[in-house]
Amino acid sequence: MQRKKDKGQLIVLSGPSGVGKSTVIAELLSQRKNIYFSVSYTTRQPRVGEQDGVNYNFVDRAEFERMIAADELLEYAEYVNNYYGTSLRVIQDRLEEGVDVLLDIEVQGAAKVRARCPGALFIFIIPPSFEELSRRLHRRNTDSEDVIAGRLEKARVEFKEIPNYDYLVINDKVSGAVAEIEAILTAAECRVENRESILTQFA
Ligand code: 5GP
Repeated sequence: MQRKKDKGQLIVLSGPSGVGKSTVIAELLSQRKNIYFSVSYTTRQPRVGEQDGVNYNFVDRAEFERMIAADELLEYAEYVNNYYGTSLRVIQDRLEEGVDVLLDIEVQGAAKVRARCPGALFIFIIPPSFEELSRRLHRRNTDSEDVIAGRLEKARVEFKEIPNYDYLVINDKVSGAVAEIEAILTAAECRVENRESILTQFA
């Protein structure tokens, strides 16, 4: 029997733009229950097929800066000239309800979460090679050459942060990456400190 947890697990997933995180996350969410994807706020323009409130909450710079000033964000970062940030209240409510919360955020934001939330789990996802990352960004066909070059440059900087993460997942095939993340989350759930409410009856 699956017991509801006392408190949800905060999971941070980072990886370069174009690695296929959104596809992996969509597949993971369809397979695993009791996990909530935190929809970030961003000032970037929606890509074709993206929906407001589903992929992101799309806001303008003035609104984002208001949220920063009002301290409504757990973390935020500027990435290729746009703001991205995580709403504090929404994730706090889910964690209190015993639901796991998944954040798809870049490395500067992840560093802020590491400092603020000691129990969080940090997973970095990489492509099988750098060339494959470039191919995937071009295949996506939504960004200009300049933007793609910026994202590849950024990826090189982000890879330097990998030693600060707990787990490294390789997205060669989506199903393989999802299976690795499932294994990590299941192992985390089995940690003694995450099963204390079950242990009380054996005391
Ligand atoms: P994209 O524009 O490709 O959707 O996302 C660009 C980068 O921003 C990705 O690395 C993504 O993980 C990151 N990102 C998305 N939402 C957030 C957020 O709320 N906070 C931070 N720090 N990064 C985010």
